[in-house]
Amino acid sequence: MTTYDVPTTLSPSRIEAFLSCPLAFRFRSLDKLPDPPTLATVRGTMVHRALELFHTLPAEERNANTLTSSVDAMLAEFVDHPDIVYLGITGDAYGDLSAQCHRLSSATLDMEDPAAINAIGLELNIEAPVGPVTLRGIIDRLERAGDGSLIVTDYKTGRAPKAGYEKRSLGGVHLYSLMCELTLGERPQQVRLMYVSSKETITDVPTDQSTRFMSQRVTAVHGALAQSCRSGEFRTKTSALCKFCAYQPWCPEFGGDPTRAVLEAPAVLQGGA
Ligand code: SF4
Repeated sequence: MTTYDVPTTLSPSRIEAFLSCPLAFRFRSLDKLPDPPTLATVRGTMVHRALELFHTLPAEERNANTLTSSVDAMLAEFVDHPDIVYLGITGDAYGDLSAQCHRLSSATLDMEDPAAINAIGLELNIEAPVGPVTLRGIIDRLERAGDGSLIVTDYKTGRAPKAGYEKRSLGGVHLYSLMCELTLGERPQQVRLMYVSSKETITDVPTDQSTRFMSQRVTAVHGALAQSCRSGEFRTKTSALCKFCAYQPWCPEFGGDPTRAVLEAPAVLQGGA
């Protein structure tokens, strides 16, 4: 059984990935197998970039016209992006993707007043020690509200969670809130998920309890990860996400042999469309 060095640095998304499926985490983060883009992931990256460009503009210049210009500027950047080339998106397909990016970005105009947003960080790199690990990540938007408090906002281009599952989806932004508190010495007053496809916003207020829970959760996940690394045992966890998993051919749940992944996956997954 192959064993691994225990990672000392993680990101909020890698923590969620380990919880979603330890074996897929191993393939991607420890075996460093390629993680090919999908239409959904590249669309998400593009919308994030368009909104970053838009909120870089002075507040009084943010309106529907300048949002359209920001999306157009992003589209010019992405036309020969490696992910677009990998997926073979050209011609009409790029036109369709462009229209989707315009629609998803414009949805934010119905969700908030862009001129009222005081962003103090866009695609902000942040790093903080949490328990036994250093957490690193990128906050989509960190802003100062009118009352001077901090708000952590994360854009989501996928589907909003079903009723009753909203809290679970907030784990990532609560971690970012904790990282802000540890690095800036100030706890954000609100965390926010903006689901642009359905124009839904989910918010929560970080508290002593949520902060303590997040810190304990990171320590617990890191402990489980350390155990897997030392034993070499990374269990599978099947879910609806399996149908999007690039590593399915090497997953025992689907008749695959995980020991062949390192040998075969690089050639199989680097091909593209
Ligand atoms: S197919 Fe499902 S169970 Fe298998 S590695 Fe991927 S996410 Fe995990």
